[in-house]
Amino acid sequence: MILKPDYNVVSLFDIDFKEIKSLGINAVLFDLDSTVMPSKSGEYPPKVKELLNDQVNKEMYSAYLYLDFSGFMGYKGLSGFAAWYKKQAEEEMEHAFKIYDYIHANGEKVELLAIAKPNIALNDELQVLKEGLKHEQYVTSLIHNIYETAMNEKDYRTMQFMDWFIKEQCEEEENAEELISKFEKYGKDLAALYELDKSLGKRD
Ligand code: MG
Repeated sequence: MILKPDYNVVSLFDIDFKEIKSLGINAVLFDLDSTVMPSKSGEYPPKVKELLNDQVNKEMYSAYLYLDFSGFMGYKGLSGFAAWYKKQAEEEMEHAFKIYDYIHANGEKVELLAIAKPNIALNDELQVLKEGLKHEQYVTSLIHNIYETAMNEKDYRTMQFMDWFIKEQCEEEENAEELISKFEKYGKDLAALYELDKSLGKRD
């Protein structure tokens, strides 16, 4: 004979396992089709949480930096480069939101920090492109550090989550390198630069 116990549907975030045990309940049914299983509050590796929280801020700073680059390129009359960097700024905000959502999915709360003023002096177009590459290399090092910390803390979910960012950083560095090499090739020929600028303006 199969006994059907009474049950209540509760959010996974609200489950208090100690309380359940104290009520003499020995089994809990999970709806595996529902949202991701959060770690219990207070058990999430604090080191990983802190780095992820900082990364939200770093990605927002990247957006600020690229918006600054966009403004500089527009000022220099390169509206295609300006549009390309503005799009890049939007992507950086998407990166921040992705991490923000992940932290919340783990039952933790994001602490929003002040976004710093872009602190790179912008002198000429090629220097700006090179600063872009340097910045992406720096971001790659931050992403790798989060992955490594998660690995040391045996936080397998965050390792898997960070896979996307590791791949994304490969693309970001490649894009930055490509911009530099194209500008070095065509930057001095006004007709070629016009075409390059036009093509960059088409980025979706
Ligand atoms: Mg990014």
